[in-house]
Amino acid sequence: MPLANPVQCPRCRTDLDRRGEKLSCSCGYSFKLRDGIYEVECPQAPEALGYNEQYYQCHLYDYSDYRISRLSFLALARPGHRILDLGCGPGAVAVSFAVLGSQVYGADISRAALKLSAHRARDAGVSLELFEFDGKTLPFKDSSFHTIVMADVAEHVDDETLSCLFRESFRMLLPGGRLVLHTAPALEAMRITGLLRRLTFGTIDLQSRLITPEYEHLHIRYHSQRSIASLLKQSGLDPLVWGEIRYLKDQWPRSVQRTFHRLLTDQVWALGIKGSVPVATFPAAPYLDALEIPSDLNLGHGDEWALGRGFYDPEGGIFRWTEKEAVLYLWAREGCSSLTIQLSAPHPDLESKPLRVVVFLDSRKVKALNITDRNPKTFSFDVSRKLKPGIHKIRLAVDRTFTPRDFGINQDSRKLGVILYEVRLD
Ligand SMILES: [Zn+2]
Repeated sequence: MPLANPVQCPRCRTDLDRRGEKLSCSCGYSFKLRDGIYEVECPQAPEALGYNEQYYQCHLYDYSDYRISRLSFLALARPGHRILDLGCGPGAVAVSFAVLGSQVYGADISRAALKLSAHRARDAGVSLELFEFDGKTLPFKDSSFHTIVMADVAEHVDDETLSCLFRESFRMLLPGGRLVLHTAPALEAMRITGLLRRLTFGTIDLQSRLITPEYEHLHIRYHSQRSIASLLKQSGLDPLVWGEIRYLKDQWPRSVQRTFHRLLTDQVWALGIKGSVPVATFPAAPYLDALEIPSDLNLGHGDEWALGRGFYDPEGGIFRWTEKEAVLYLWAREGCSSLTIQLSAPHPDLESKPLRVVVFLDSRKVKALNITDRNPKTFSFDVSRKLKPGIHKIRLAVDRTFTPRDFGINQDSRKLGVILYEVRLD
């Protein structure tokens, strides 16, 4: 079913008339389409100070593949889905959603940001509907979007404005739709690094890894998991909030990260569902239940949202390598009882010594496989009489790794355990 035109007058919430390059309301409010951007004529909002082209081109806005791919899976970016990137900035996220086939709208207070988004969309050969807005009221109708994304916006506005944007999101989302939010640096990490700096009289200053001094004045406030959850709840959205240690991952010992995860969080992620968050079948990572985890993971298609640790970035999008240990998540349907794994081990020393791969399901050892040659093999085996429907963690551990470069196979200097092609629960 085609989606209805979502655009309306932000002031009186009635339809706009289109005349040539102009969208106008009887109240006098109007947008003018200029270079692919709907600009507000006679904007009431003050000039977006500081949010200029230079800012958007600084390294802060170097969106890594990791963050974009995570936003894409959280936003359920795909054909037939309409997504609003609220505070779209220079458009890297919006364009990536459009490339995946979603119908994407972008809104921002900064014309410089919208211009960069329009350029990026043209370069990528996709279309974005880009709207300037006043920072408070969006020019879109109720129940218009499957997903609204606010990536790195929350830290740039005060709580009153953020509440207002959350309420607007609630209004514009379809029932069951979701707001996807990312904010960094998190208040938790700013507190702990601040304390550390004071206690060491400035000797240990990890805050310099969290902020960029020349743009720090644009940060209005840092958020904690708690502040985001509370503001989402107030707006009517059901919150699912979790933290991540990313910027300072290599600064804290692993055991400290596990024990004090919440305190050390430097990124806050959240979903706000217009409805109820799904029941967590996997309490260790409750957000997995909101991701549509598959039962059949074809690693040739880059279903990377179900991958945990141990995987490298795709090699030409063809397959993925594991290190000594790989973790992934699969959804078990009612009545699932067997696990199928297709893998190969290109180790150069298999003839003298088979490679041992141990398969764990939810931390329970279910099978040990011996690999004796390099050809891809498919193993299928029973894991249980019947698995509980929901998300299950699958871990593969190999007894040794090798470095392709050391054996002249290719120039890759990374450690390789096995190559996984497909993993499936039936
Ligand atoms: Zn109007």
